[in-house]
Amino acid sequence: MDFLKTRYIPMSRRRRIYEGKAKVLYEGPEPGTLIQHFKDDATAFNAKKHEVIDGKGVLNNRISEYLFSKLNDIGVPTHFIRRLNMREQLIREVEIIPLEVVVRNVAAGSLSTRLGIDEGTQLPRSIIEFYYKNDALNDPLVSEEHITAFGWATPQEIDDIIALAIRVNDFLSGLFLGAGIRLVDFKMECGRLWENDVMRIVVADEISPDSCRLWDIKSNDKMDKDRFRKDLGGLIEAYTEVARRLGVMGENERPTGPVLVQ
Ligand code: C5P
Repeated sequence: MDFLKTRYIPMSRRRRIYEGKAKVLYEGPEPGTLIQHFKDDATAFNAKKHEVIDGKGVLNNRISEYLFSKLNDIGVPTHFIRRLNMREQLIREVEIIPLEVVVRNVAAGSLSTRLGIDEGTQLPRSIIEFYYKNDALNDPLVSEEHITAFGWATPQEIDDIIALAIRVNDFLSGLFLGAGIRLVDFKMECGRLWENDVMRIVVADEISPDSCRLWDIKSNDKMDKDRFRKDLGGLIEAYTEVARRLGVMGENERPTGPVLVQ
């Protein structure tokens, strides 16, 4: 299959496979592929808070493309094939494991709330948590016992997911550090990818400031979706700065269209 010569299918004629809060999945140009489209919608607290933020989808597409390409380069298997345009990327179709895998390096968010640990406390070691992907239940924290008992993943798959999570965390922590950013925590999703009769677990979905906590190394300024969750403002500016520091967007590139001068 030649993924570099993708047939162009107008968006209006594509079959929509799934629509989530911030992304849409369309049928891809070849069997076993999908097109992942990044929307501008920002949601928090299980979609109780919702806003459309012009340009967010473009930035997340570019940042996620960059991070997934780097992971592919170092041999971490992912669903990512290549970016198609400003908002879309070509991905391999995988069977998503219904878990949100959260890796934490510094206390923040729900860990601080649940366990009363001050935000910003360096954790003695990285902590991996699993949440069951279920909006109706508010994505509850679950243990490996729950995961295996209810058949969401096998013990071998959990081992593979943990090994992937550790590699992704080590690599991304270093990558962000080089850009003057502390990777406080992040969420990743995994999927089952079949190649002939062999199945392997790959990193799927997106990794972007929507799914990570990123703090400026010097000022501790938040450069992630907490700016939206906590009504801090300046989300696009922060995401643009992350992209700029990673060298993802050119100095003069804008995530939104040309701005009309009044
Ligand atoms: O809210 P909490 O502290 O559990 O979030 C941990 C990390 O997982 C944060 O980086 C957050 O952005 C991410 N997350 C996510 N999607 C969710 C829940 C958390 O990307 N549904």
